[in-house]
Amino acid sequence: MGTINGATLMARSLKQQGVEYMFGIVGFPVFGIALAAQKEGITYIGMRNEQSASYAAQAAGYLTGRPQACLVVSGPGVIHALAGLANAQQNCWPMILIGGASPTYQNGMGAFQEERQVELAAPYCKYAHGVEHVARIPYYVEQAIRTSLYGRPGPVYLDMPDNVISGDVDEEQVVKAATIGEPPRSQAHPDAIEAALSTLESAERPLVIVGKGMSWSRAEDEVRQFIERTQLPFLASPMGKGVLPDDDPLSVGAARSTALKEADVVFLMGARLNWIMHYGLPPRFAPDVRVIQLDISPEAIGTNVAAEVALVGDGKAIARQLNQALDNRQWFYPAESEWRATLKAKAQANQEAVAPMMEDDSAPMNYYRAYRDIDAWLPEDAIVIGEGANTMDIGRTQMLNRSPRHRLDAGTYGTMGIGLGFTIAAAVVHPDRPIVAVQGDSAFGFSGMELETACRYKLPIKIVVLNNGGIGVGNETLPTDKPIPPGALTPGARYEGIMEALGGRGFYVEDPAELRGVLDEAMAFDGPALVNVRIHHRAGRKPQQFGWLTT
Ligand code: ADP
Ligand code: MG
Repeated sequence: MGTINGATLMARSLKQQGVEYMFGIVGFPVFGIALAAQKEGITYIGMRNEQSASYAAQAAGYLTGRPQACLVVSGPGVIHALAGLANAQQNCWPMILIGGASPTYQNGMGAFQEERQVELAAPYCKYAHGVEHVARIPYYVEQAIRTSLYGRPGPVYLDMPDNVISGDVDEEQVVKAATIGEPPRSQAHPDAIEAALSTLESAERPLVIVGKGMSWSRAEDEVRQFIERTQLPFLASPMGKGVLPDDDPLSVGAARSTALKEADVVFLMGARLNWIMHYGLPPRFAPDVRVIQLDISPEAIGTNVAAEVALVGDGKAIARQLNQALDNRQWFYPAESEWRATLKAKAQANQEAVAPMMEDDSAPMNYYRAYRDIDAWLPEDAIVIGEGANTMDIGRTQMLNRSPRHRLDAGTYGTMGIGLGFTIAAAVVHPDRPIVAVQGDSAFGFSGMELETACRYKLPIKIVVLNNGGIGVGNETLPTDKPIPPGALTPGARYEGIMEALGGRGFYVEDPAELRGVLDEAMAFDGPALVNVRIHHRAGRKPQQFGWLTT
């Protein structure tokens, strides 16, 4: 046996643990790791900003079901990637960040890009460690990947000093590590399963909330069976969308506020009562709402509202338990009920409220008119990335999802800037599927230079920028006689020109009559395309009963 260096051993250990993709930016001291990764059969994607690279790694992790890697240089590289660690932690998504570090023998000397990286990464990670010796790399990678994947998933960090990356060790001295298998799927207590079903049976106005925990645990078949069998009305969270089709007759997505406010029993399936779900508190929920909570994380149970029944364990395993327990019960939620009628009427009223906006052909167009054509254009198997304020919020209601893990957005952390990282990851992981990002003009700007990455790798992504010339509120022109408002962006900025300059196709649309034709042309193009859609500066959401952050 010969010797092996740290870079090769890192790449080999990652490959052993099922890492297939590495997103990163090379430089001192990590170049060797990227080259070794390619040699070991890991797909390496070179990005333009470490934030995007770390967003890409976590989206790839969510889509593949295994942690994927992000590789960054020391100091500022790690600092930029912290944004991704924090986002992954909030979303409960796995990923492994590998940061280069200055050599250990220069610690404290003011070395090039010297930084307290393990300390800084730790608060955003389930596990953060420095690697002090080449021989122990497989040990640390095993521990990191296992921690990232098992239990509630999350990000992990490994610090790789220059002298460990370039150091050699005799192959026989290398510490052997076990290969991490699929995460164990723990079940809930059978008494809790019965209690959950009894509580649902006792409800007058039940509501199931399906979150991204079910999507992560690949529980779609079991959840579908459960809903079919019980006939319970359900609401999907933003990224829980698609676990069941949005156009399922039992979906009450179009009557969301009423469903939340008037439900007497809420069954949280892999979803949290955080800001997205208005904490489960009045005025958005009934003050005495009863909660059944399914979560893999015991300490998540009872957050904001005490849970009457706790189902702790894996979403897929527990949904299967529920279905088995249903075999001994005759019960299902009746087809005719006041609750169903209320929800149906509300959904209809909401649809009628937006219909005039969807039909409004004036130019520049409003969001609902744009989404009318976008939704009709989206292929059935498209993975959709949504990002922006109005663009994302309205898009969530107007673009229907029919398959699990086909929607990615700003998520639990509300992060603007995830757009192109997520889009590139989706295109790399699923080269067989259409990948469509719909971004506001502000959101697009956070990661716009990743268009070069998409062009370099010839990823046929389709970007639609809904361009109202501002952050949130739009602008028709920039003032010349007073300061530019803090939220203003250049009205009518020609973002499609960037795509053209980098080798893709760009389109600009103002008149809604042209939108569908342009979208079709963009889809037909065998490469990256960007459609820049001018949105009227005063366009917004339909009037809401509650402001978006109402508690
Ligand atoms: P959403 O934004 O869709 O409501 P959240 O991210 O708020 O989703 O909540 C997802 C929940 O799913 C988290 O509390 C997480 O602990 C849980 N979860 C993660 N993995 C699993 C799993 N395998 N089974 C069940 N729950 C899971
Ligand atoms: Mg905007």
